[in-house]
Amino acid sequence: MASDPWQQALVSECFLSVQGEGKLVGMPSYFIRLSGCNLRCRWCDTPYASWNPQGTQQSLSSLLDSARDSGATHVVLTGGEPMLFDIIEPLSKELRSRGMHITVETAGTIFRNANVLACDLLSLSPKLSNSTPSPNDSRDPSGAWAARHESRRINIPVLQQLLDSFPSHQLKFVVSADADIAEVHALLAQLKNWSPSNVLLMPEGVTTPSATAKAWLVDVCLKNNFRYCPRLHIELFGNVRGT
Ligand code: SF4
Repeated sequence: MASDPWQQALVSECFLSVQGEGKLVGMPSYFIRLSGCNLRCRWCDTPYASWNPQGTQQSLSSLLDSARDSGATHVVLTGGEPMLFDIIEPLSKELRSRGMHITVETAGTIFRNANVLACDLLSLSPKLSNSTPSPNDSRDPSGAWAARHESRRINIPVLQQLLDSFPSHQLKFVVSADADIAEVHALLAQLKNWSPSNVLLMPEGVTTPSATAKAWLVDVCLKNNFRYCPRLHIELFGNVRGT
């Protein structure tokens, strides 16, 4: 019998940790990572939920039970791309009805509205051109994913709908060079209803950034009134699963 996508999904991992990125950095949170993504970022730090989606089928009720048993008051629905999966609607609503604060982490290419998605912080992470797989990426020998990724990674109408529908949001960008900052500005120029204090810049990489990289990013943030976004989980645990 075919599985019901509203009642179960492929889940790569669930774990209790401190939030590593964004406005709620440091907050004890229960992470539910849905497996599968419509993008293929070159530097994806969860390839087991994108390039090679792995996990086990889990039911809505088992996810609700494990979130409750974690003892956390904050839940992070992440991926992969969690907005791909219909279960996010009943899951978010049921978690909300249990009094939990819900963060949804998404690349912002798929729209679901606030009537169907319970979300207290929408963490949007639009993907810049630095995310596109290179022509010699062994994971994408035909270049099919690079083309798909490039055509999908920015969807201005969807981003605008998400910003309008979820006033409590943050826009996170992974950056490493001045060209990335120019791209951030070009993107923001096409959007309304955002403020610089909700724009967070994160250094690219899955290791602690160099002193030079950090100093460059601090300077960029000061000049633009953007927020510097550290990756606390990398500092605390390194680039390992379940953190
Ligand atoms: S959108 Fe996120 S999960 Fe998907 S490939 Fe990019 S970094 Fe990985």
